[in-house]
Amino acid sequence: MSIASHAGKFAAPRTDAQGRIPLIGLNPEELKEVLSIHNLPGFRSKQVWHWLYHRGVRDFESMANLPKDLRATLTEKYSIERPKLITEQKSEDGTIKWLLGMSDGQQVEAVFIPEAKRGTLCVSSQVGCTLTCKFCHTGTQPLVRNLGANEILQQIMFARDALDEWPAKDKKDEGRDLTNIVMMGMGEPLYNYDNVAKALKICMDEDGLGISKRRITLSTSGVVPQIVQCGEELNVNLAISLHAPSNELRSSIMPINNKYPLEELLAACRNYPGLSENRRITFEYVMLKDVNDSDEQAHSLANLLRAIPCKINLIPFNSWPGSGYECSSGNRIDSFARILEEAGYDAPVRRARGADILAACGQLKSESQRVRVTPPGKTAEDGKTA
Ligand code: SAH
Ligand code: SF4
Repeated sequence: MSIASHAGKFAAPRTDAQGRIPLIGLNPEELKEVLSIHNLPGFRSKQVWHWLYHRGVRDFESMANLPKDLRATLTEKYSIERPKLITEQKSEDGTIKWLLGMSDGQQVEAVFIPEAKRGTLCVSSQVGCTLTCKFCHTGTQPLVRNLGANEILQQIMFARDALDEWPAKDKKDEGRDLTNIVMMGMGEPLYNYDNVAKALKICMDEDGLGISKRRITLSTSGVVPQIVQCGEELNVNLAISLHAPSNELRSSIMPINNKYPLEELLAACRNYPGLSENRRITFEYVMLKDVNDSDEQAHSLANLLRAIPCKINLIPFNSWPGSGYECSSGNRIDSFARILEEAGYDAPVRRARGADILAACGQLKSESQRVRVTPPGKTAEDGKTA
């Protein structure tokens, strides 16, 4: 299926359940155009923009410098509400996972990961995923639909609400706990490129959410044409889910490799604009016992990535019920990392965050879907958690 027809079939709803149009996610020109049908002078749309992205208001009534009757009209016709919080879980390590309900009842997860000098929000781009990578929990949930630009931005805006970070404590990122964004939640962001791009442009805009492109990382399983487009239009940091050093193995665990094999993928990486030793691609490599973790495979990986400014994040496999894979042993991961380091790569082993609340990489899934994974001997009803 082409990306365009894919986007149509799985499109996000254009209005909420009350028929109201979302204003979040429109760029400044679109916002001006939408509001122009109410015969408003241009400065009104600037005021609305400011309330939305600087002050983080969640209803039109709070937009104090708009005339009262205009606030009423806007309330009737447009929505700026946040997604509904379904559940919040806090991990022992401080990671917070929010399950959020969209206006049509679909659910996605966003995960906040606090670290010493920064805080990262892992944002979802789709409900489910089409790509069926064998080791990934999200991949077992069929794609339900793309998220709209508003729903992608609203995850970030929701996190700012929850962390009490409106308005900006400081004009610069340092004033906030939420400093970085990773498009590494549910879904393949480059299969929903248009909405992701719209959302990230507002996120990066100094007059929008003001999070610079150097603090945003987009992770993809390797949708080559959109990697090129993303490099030209957004130029955010790029992370590639690589996970195997050969086409044969990669195709067997990541079916997208049949469409965009390693040669094409790595060529797109080499040509990603702005790469340097200070701005490197991150290759993600999930450590799967007896699948991709031998010394020989580490040497092949080192050869494969030669001449690409990059680092390799080794991710211990996070298990989920019924996955059929195991994580490589600590010794195996160390040996794999050592080979890469001796070949000149940074190859940190990524500490799993939030694993106790199934918030770690590859574990995200809508609760409504997760209940289908039922322990042996139990019925689906028994397995229900909500
Ligand atoms: N679809 C995008 C982004 C979401 S996945 C992509 O594939 O890049 C975020 C990262 O988690 C990816 O690198 C993915 O391969 C990895 N991942 C998936 N399942 C995992 C698991 N069970 N354990 C560890 N990492 C996993
Ligand atoms: Fe989709 Fe990424 Fe999971 Fe693959 S690893 S199934 S692309 S979310």
